[in-house]
Amino acid sequence: MKTVGVLTSGGDSPGMNAAIRAVVRNAIAKGCRVIGVRRGYDGLIQGQLEEMNLSSVADIIHRGGTILRTARSEEFRTEEGRKKALNVMKVFGIEGMVVIGGDGSFRGAEELSKLGIPTIGVPGTIDNDLAYTDYTIGFDTAMNTVVEAISRIRDTSTSHGRANIIEVMGRHCGDIALHAGLAGGAESIIIPEVGLDIEQVCRKLIKGKNRGKLHSIILLAEGVGGAIELGATIEEMTGIETRATILGHTQRGGSPTAFDRVLASKMGAKAVDLLIEGKQSLVVGIKGNEIIGVDIEKALSIEKKLDKETYQLADILSM
Ligand code: ADP
Repeated sequence: MKTVGVLTSGGDSPGMNAAIRAVVRNAIAKGCRVIGVRRGYDGLIQGQLEEMNLSSVADIIHRGGTILRTARSEEFRTEEGRKKALNVMKVFGIEGMVVIGGDGSFRGAEELSKLGIPTIGVPGTIDNDLAYTDYTIGFDTAMNTVVEAISRIRDTSTSHGRANIIEVMGRHCGDIALHAGLAGGAESIIIPEVGLDIEQVCRKLIKGKNRGKLHSIILLAEGVGGAIELGATIEEMTGIETRATILGHTQRGGSPTAFDRVLASKMGAKAVDLLIEGKQSLVVGIKGNEIIGVDIEKALSIEKKLDKETYQLADILSM
């Protein structure tokens, strides 16, 4: 393996830069050249590539976003688009690729491997929606962003005696809501894996109010529905004044936490090591404390299940 390519694709996440840095520096340390691809698969098709060196990734470990930028590419989903990408990779002498992104980007990575370019995926998504790994890069940072928001909202919730609905990201996965909800002491956590039981949410609110509770935080995962509509329903059903906050893209940005930087550094470096070992069609993950490589198709076929213990614990502790 003499020349390694690297790109970021799909939704960005804090820690992607730390992963890029690890790919570039570990590859150079092991005697490889590194080509950075701008704007994901779209940039690959359009030839937006340039060689990277040690300085290309200086001063980025602490930055959110991705210096390589990211994109969603419809053209790469077509055979013709992928052929163009292959030609570009040949011109630049790329012999192996590291793709940093979520499940969609991994499907693209699998296609690259099928074209004869060994490709390794690194999970960069705040959603933590990939079942083969305990954590994805950016999840911890997003969770901390939500916990900080909860603390701020809790202050005003207490002052006014209102119920506050906070809508968080995660697409079909409730991990951000569940973990940030537990860490932030939310009264109710509503996630797609369980669904909405509006009567139970209202019962809990009224019980809390009767017990003298001043604040009420309801954490809602975006995969279940919208905070504004839910707030209106709760206000109507309980008579308790509600406010809704949609945290949106604040969760996608910001300086990555130490956890995400360490995870991204380990995963990025591992991806390069796997390529050098002659591996392909793998995605890097973490299980317990071990950084692992899993076959892409197998990784994507594992269904993400509800972490029942954590969900029940959050429920017990928020009585
Ligand atoms: P994420 O990686 O965050 O899940 P997307 O689902 O948008 O983001 O996927 C990112 C990109 O990966 C898509 O825009 C597309 O170019 C590529 N991609 C996704 N699925 C496939 C596929 N089945 N074949 C080829 N490329 C794909």
